Amino acid sequence: MAKVIVVGSINMDVVATADRRPRVGETVMGRNLGFFPGGKGANQAVSTARLGVPTVMVGKLGTDRFGDELYAFLSGQGVDVSHVGRTSVAPTGTAVIVVDGHGDNSIVVVSGANGLLGPSDLEGVDIEADDVLVSQFEVPLEAVGAAFSLGRTVGATTVLNPAPATPAGERLLSLVDVLVLNQLELAALSSEEPAAERDVDAIAAAATRLCVHPNQVVIVTLGAQGAVAVEGDQRLIVTGHRVNAVDTTGAGDCFVGGLATQLALGHELVDAVRFANAAAAICVQRHGAGTSMPTAEEVRRNFPVEAA
Ligand code: ADP
Repeated sequence: MAKVIVVGSINMDVVATADRRPRVGETVMGRNLGFFPGGKGANQAVSTARLGVPTVMVGKLGTDRFGDELYAFLSGQGVDVSHVGRTSVAPTGTAVIVVDGHGDNSIVVVSGANGLLGPSDLEGVDIEADDVLVSQFEVPLEAVGAAFSLGRTVGATTVLNPAPATPAGERLLSLVDVLVLNQLELAALSSEEPAAERDVDAIAAAATRLCVHPNQVVIVTLGAQGAVAVEGDQRLIVTGHRVNAVDTTGAGDCFVGGLATQLALGHELVDAVRFANAAAAICVQRHGAGTSMPTAEEVRRNFPVEAA
């Protein structure tokens, strides 16, 4: 069976809630503290594993306690962690998040071990023509580029989620079969002002301008509005599902995971985008990121047409 290989970040999100965020030099008393597995790579790997497709994670953790916990978490979610390395040189990637009474937050991310992921970490990873290789920009671009070069050599499908938005060279983008990004990332990568939220024509036109080769697919996620995909002069608009969204953290990661699983299962792009849009609509109805990813059964139950 084809598999999904995710080359990306693994973080522990440490979330403190307080009535308000501290000012410079100030200490405020918090209300709660939570530890949540995160990092775009790990979120996407958890998404694909929960959706029932064999998933291999290529990443790097520290040899500290967070590293142990994240290793156990990923493995418990069914992710193959045999290519998750451990290093004593840097701490496990950690995001320290303070959320105030209005739900506004301040975040400090220390990439730690994620920043040490390199081309040598791909040695021994089995990548085959049917596989789907997924990556993001929370690990060094050299690692992403090396992974996609290997993927290209064997004919695997490469999916890039260029988040956080980082200027990527044309060489790297030319190795990408499917680019999945949100509107802000589209604006950053294309160095254009973001189009108005509902102006799908302008968004699709910007996505088309971003294509670096004729067979490249660019999918722009539009939050509650759904997503638009362009391939050459073809355009597919998938309307968002009307659901009671309580927390959109991880929605983009769930979309990427949903898409990757369907491509690995050999489905057409159109069906893969519809499935991804349905899976993400379930994710936004639950709190958290890694923990809010749906199973294939949940997608089937909630969206029988999209999961058919
Ligand atoms: P990101 O989380 O990367 O900013 P988006 O906000 O565009 O990405 O969301 C990704 C996908 O999640 C959307 O394309 C859509 O399928 C789904 N989604 C996000 N917000 C909602 C919502 N409020 N209602 C329904 N689906 C949503």
